[in-house]
Amino acid sequence: MRQGGIIIDALLGLFGLAGFVYGILAIILAKRSNKSLKLPGLILALSFALFLTGLAISPKDNLASGTDISIAEPGAKSAPEAVPGNAPIPGSFPSSYTERDNAPASEPAATLAPESTPIPGSIESQTPGLVFSPEDPKELRVTFIDVGQADSILIQTPQGKNILMDAGNTADYSVIKACLDAAGVRRLDVVVATHPHEDHIGSMASVIKAYDIGKIYMPKAATTTKTFENLLMAIKEKGLKASEAKGGITIETGDSLITAEILAPNSSDYDDMNDWSAVIKLSYGKTSFLFTGDAEDVSEKEMLSKKYDLKADVLKIGHHGSSSSTTAEFLSAVSPKYAVISVGKDNDYGHPAAGVMNRLKKAGIPVYRTDESGTIVCVSDGETIRFNVSPGSYTSGRQSGTSGTSITPTPSPTPGASSKQTPTPVPTPTPSPDTSGDRIVYWTPGGKSYHYTKDCSTLSRSKTILSGKPSECPKSDPCDICAR
Ligand SMILES: [Zn+2]
Ligand SMILES: [Zn+2]
Repeated sequence: MRQGGIIIDALLGLFGLAGFVYGILAIILAKRSNKSLKLPGLILALSFALFLTGLAISPKDNLASGTDISIAEPGAKSAPEAVPGNAPIPGSFPSSYTERDNAPASEPAATLAPESTPIPGSIESQTPGLVFSPEDPKELRVTFIDVGQADSILIQTPQGKNILMDAGNTADYSVIKACLDAAGVRRLDVVVATHPHEDHIGSMASVIKAYDIGKIYMPKAATTTKTFENLLMAIKEKGLKASEAKGGITIETGDSLITAEILAPNSSDYDDMNDWSAVIKLSYGKTSFLFTGDAEDVSEKEMLSKKYDLKADVLKIGHHGSSSSTTAEFLSAVSPKYAVISVGKDNDYGHPAAGVMNRLKKAGIPVYRTDESGTIVCVSDGETIRFNVSPGSYTSGRQSGTSGTSITPTPSPTPGASSKQTPTPVPTPTPSPDTSGDRIVYWTPGGKSYHYTKDCSTLSRSKTILSGKPSECPKSDPCDICAR
């Protein structure tokens, strides 16, 4: 009650003002009618004092309970708060209030302001955690996107550049896009197509069409698949020009804190398309990564003989863990602290191979695999490396049906052939390596056979030629001309 607050103060001032005006009028009237000036004078004086009081009282002031205001004339009776005191008059205010009487008329407004307007800016500037401070440690972030039996790796550099290495299968675009969106990626400063197999360039045309693209690196290898043609078309339509990926070249990332060297391919001809794979060593501070695409033993041998510094903390195991890659010599030259395998669950190729898994297990290298963990994120601060998931198992993939050759598109994945981790070293049951892991087969909607080449003479008059992995092919009869 006592601290009637600013509202009461304002009312006091208002009533005082009203009384003041009334008093002046009363004096004028009294003068005209020759009445006594005593009463109007008193009213005038009182209301003037009241007005000043209203102006001068600040909210923190303790108005003596008796402050009487009630007497103060007509207007005052509508001020209920003030009524109870009912104490008679003046004398009381002067001493305590006069010193404030000189306050300029604008003071009430000024004293109100701090209460209602809470210092602009201060609140926002105190809100923590919404914006990353520039002092955040600079990190290199590598995301092995789970695209099943395929590869797609997003690299976000300490200085904010984005590199996409491979783009999964054609059906993986939505997964890749979701991952790029989640990472806030709008521009890909560098795109690398390690080699033109479907499971590495499948969604690359879509990526190139949808994103702002800096540079594209790809080896000088070509195929006649529709996917590859689409990729070339997308590059052309975007007005871009692919740079050749080959051993000895350094990728221009635009990030001065990292280096990205291409260590393969090192020849101008390979029997196997996988050996065309661009192999990239990425270094940041004391940490390094080796991304091998699908490079196989032939390319590994070349890298060894070229005397490249292959040592790396993280090795992206070649060719989805196929036995044709990650030879003992290569693994020991890299001597990684961690291995990552991008591989599809229950794939038809038996990836990862038991031999490779045994080698990793023997060397005590933790293995992170997309078939067990999904998308894997690995972060380096330049000193140490950490993963978002725990290491996976050393269990090898199931060989489907004909082990080794693996091309026969048998619709049934033949269970039971599960080759669980065997403690005995490197069994290698079949001498033939499954180099055909990325084999693409062709067929026509009406035909009964599948083909190994789109250029097969039996397809020369077919308008619609479909392509895909053996597992996706509905035909079970190998073509007599190209698939035997
Ligand atoms: Zn592949
Ligand atoms: Zn391949």
